[in-house]
Amino acid sequence: MKENLKADGVKVRFAPSPTGNLHIGGVRTAFFNYIFALKYGGEFILRIDDTDRARSKKEYEAEIIKDLNWFGIKYGGFYRQSERTAVYEKYLGVLKEKDLIYECFCTEEEILISKEIAVKSKKPYIYNGRCANLTSSEKEKLSSQFKERGMYPSIRLNIAKVLKAMGNFKAVEFEDAVHGLLSFNPKLIGDFILKTEHNRFTYNFASIIDDHDIGITHVIRGEDHISNTPKQILILNALDKTPPVFAHISLLYGKDGKIMSKRDDAANIEYYKKEGYLPNAILNYLAITGNTFTVHEFENGKEKISEKEIFSDILEMAELFEIKKARGSSAIFSEEKLRHINEKLLQEMDAEKLIKILTEKFQSEEVLEKLRDAYGEKYVEIIDFLKNEFKTVKEILAEIKIFFEDFKTEKAEIKYDIKLKETLLNNLQKIESDKFDENAIKNAVKESASESGKTSKDCYEMLRLCITGRYDGPSILKIIKLMGRERTLKRLSC
Ligand code: GLU
Repeated sequence: MKENLKADGVKVRFAPSPTGNLHIGGVRTAFFNYIFALKYGGEFILRIDDTDRARSKKEYEAEIIKDLNWFGIKYGGFYRQSERTAVYEKYLGVLKEKDLIYECFCTEEEILISKEIAVKSKKPYIYNGRCANLTSSEKEKLSSQFKERGMYPSIRLNIAKVLKAMGNFKAVEFEDAVHGLLSFNPKLIGDFILKTEHNRFTYNFASIIDDHDIGITHVIRGEDHISNTPKQILILNALDKTPPVFAHISLLYGKDGKIMSKRDDAANIEYYKKEGYLPNAILNYLAITGNTFTVHEFENGKEKISEKEIFSDILEMAELFEIKKARGSSAIFSEEKLRHINEKLLQEMDAEKLIKILTEKFQSEEVLEKLRDAYGEKYVEIIDFLKNEFKTVKEILAEIKIFFEDFKTEKAEIKYDIKLKETLLNNLQKIESDKFDENAIKNAVKESASESGKTSKDCYEMLRLCITGRYDGPSILKIIKLMGRERTLKRLSC
């Protein structure tokens, strides 16, 4: 047993179940664990909770790993629960030796009936403990009946015995790093199952055994797991082991006020990739939602505390991260806010870095290659211009094409005015290559306006239509300047 790992420092884990793709709430949990480990120089591991063999799929596991990589969330160790049955058997053996577990022969149907009765009488379901006190002859009889039918008894923790061994404590308590002291009445928990009638270890057992065996110091997970924690603590109590620190972080809520789950479209990571949000913008957004990052500064000898929201550097976020603040009552997901962060991060980023991200995270090699072929090293200037004009990668990529994809303006366009186009072409042609700057273009437009009796606005609209095929977009003057004389004249002449 690797008991002493805990003394080596912080060790945290992200433990997704591969029963679906990673959703946005899962990314948030993974990220909190990751920055917690970064902050304390600890270890962050990935554990695939695949005890539910029927619902777990290898494809989902692969997707989860791919997504963590996409976000740049790097893990150290890797574990798969389906490969750790021997470890669980070993600990179950210890509990058996201590006589703290028992075989339960109640069938699924019988349990279901008890649950229905509990629901009808509006009481929480608690296992009645029927099999805790079977005589040895009853046990033998049931055992052979089960064997004959090829069935397994489930294995339950005997809570009364655990409590007795622990000196009959009245409450299972733990100091949650987010919520403070939480206290549960063990009598309301009921003898729960560690291994099912399908001979599978349950989540509660496998999870806490792993946490202990792997040497996890802090279990950071969603609030929806709070009710599992007293059970997991009881298992460790029974084994005479110290529980890790638990930190239950707030959950993310959708606009409808409901918890975001794998089933919601808005929780789907693919959507955010497709919409062109930067991985760091998503992480930044997830971290500040329902959580605060406070900066302490000194101004004229006085301490000034402010909240920071935009982080271009994950390490800075890690440094300021405080787990106890991960308890927002208003962790409501807002795409608008995410867009705002994305916009800010795009503006702050230098063009070379964005090119790297476009290539590595958004499969844009081909588009970038074409832009580079058309403009040479000047293509960096174009990216630099676009990143300040748009809020998402999707918008930038759509606009890049305008720079190299030649097209014919639809003459059927309502505002298409062939005479005006020719006047503009004529005046722009007069500018020499080395003088083709914004001022010269502006003057050529003025000239064309007065010659044709149109307004400058009409001229810019016509230019935009012929050069980009659109009626709106960023400054057409800047676009023309970046495209250069030759390409501009070519587009105006067709
Ligand atoms: N597999 C569990 C889940 O996906 C993990 C819970 C935990 O972190 O213990 O919800």
